[in-house]
This record gives sequence, C-alpha cells and structure tokens, in this order.
Amino acid sequence: MLITLDGGRISIGAMALGLGQAAFDCALKYAAGHKEFGKPIAYQQGIGFKLADMATELEAARLMIYETSRLKDAGKPFSRQSAMCKLFASEVATRTAANAIGILGEVGISIGRYPAERVWRDVKLCEIGEGTSEIQRLVIARDLVKSVEKV
Ligand SMILES: Cc1cc2nc3c(=O)[nH]c(=O)nc-3n(C[C@H](O)[C@H](O)[C@H](O)COP(=O)(O)OP(=O)(O)OC[C@H]3O[C@@H](n4cnc5c(N)ncnc54)[C@H](O)[C@@H]3O)c2cc1C
Repeated sequence: MLITLDGGRISIGAMALGLGQAAFDCALKYAAGHKEFGKPIAYQQGIGFKLADMATELEAARLMIYETSRLKDAGKPFSRQSAMCKLFASEVATRTAANAIGILGEVGISIGRYPAERVWRDVKLCEIGEGTSEIQRLVIARDLVKSVEKV
C-alpha cells in the first residue's frame, strides 16, 4: 500500500506542476500585455521579480519530478524523493497560483475570465490528496533519521 503511495506522489507532483505552469503562463502573458504607467506591468521590477521566482521554483519542481521518476524507472529506492517532490511541487504550485492571481489583480478572481482563477481553486487539493504536506514532512523526516541510524 505504501509503495503504491510512493508512485502516486510523483503523479500528484506532476499534476501540481502542470497546474502551476498553467497559472504562470497565464500571469506572464497578462503581465507582458497589460499596460500601466505607459508600459507593460512585466517591466515593473516588483512584477518581474515575482515572475522570476515563479519560473525558478517551477523549474526546480520539474527537475525533482524527473529525477524521482528516473529513480523509480531504475528500480532504486525513491520513497523520500517522491514525498519531497510531491511536497515541493504542490506548495510551489499553490504559491504560483496565488501570485498569478495577484499579478492579474481584480480580473484574476473573476470566475471564468482567466485560467489562473480555476487553477487557484483546484491546486490546493494537491497539498491534501495522496497525503497532506504534514504527512510528507513526517515521511521525509523519518527517512532522514533512519538513514543515519543505519550507519
Ligand atoms: C481531491 C482529492 C482526491 C482524493 N483522492 C483519494 C483517493 O483516490 N483515494 C484515497 O484513498 N484518498 C483520497 N483522498 C483523500 C486524501 O488522501 C485525504 O484527504 C488526505 O490523506 C488527508 O486525510 P484526511 O482528509 O482524513 O485529513 P486528516 O487526516 O483528518 O488530517 C487533517 C489535518 O491534520 C493534519 N494531520 C493529521 N495527522 C497528522 C500528523 N500525524 N501530524 C501532523 N499533522 C497531521 C493533516 O495534515 C491535515 O492538515 C483524496 C483527497 C482529495 C482532496
């Protein structure tokens, strides 16, 4: 049963990544096209920094998911890594969706106008299903301690 969860956590991580990427794509396109004070808001440093952080965190989540999938395909232990990639990707995706809504402003929370709003409603489930973030932290911490005890 626990082995099944290990595999499922990669899937939830990948689902979170897809949702986060959709929210980011929406925010980037909007920021590059929506003008305030004579220029696209993407050129305002505060917005640009947010976009940079969102893209960086999504890239890190993507690499964690690829690496965990590689370990699974190679038949190597991947319990800790699957908990880590699920935990990280789901929290990154939730943060990304919240930031995307912030970048869109009022139109961001209008139901059905931009995809970021739907992502924001849906993405939280990735922090709950297949074990909550607290449970992922428990799994990771126990595995870390076990690895030291073995030595
Ligand atoms: C969209 C969705 C799809 C789902 N699909 C499935 C499915 O297909 N199959 C299936 O079996 N389940 C499924 N679930 C259930 C999901 O796995 C559980 O909701 C999840 O594991 C949390 O359990 P719970 O809701 O009973 O919360 P609880 O266990 O009651 O937890 C409530 C809160 O307490 C915290 N908590 C509980 N225990 C501890 C602890 N020891 N230490 C620290 N914090 C703790 C939790 O992190 C959470 O914040 C799904 C859930 C969602 C939202």
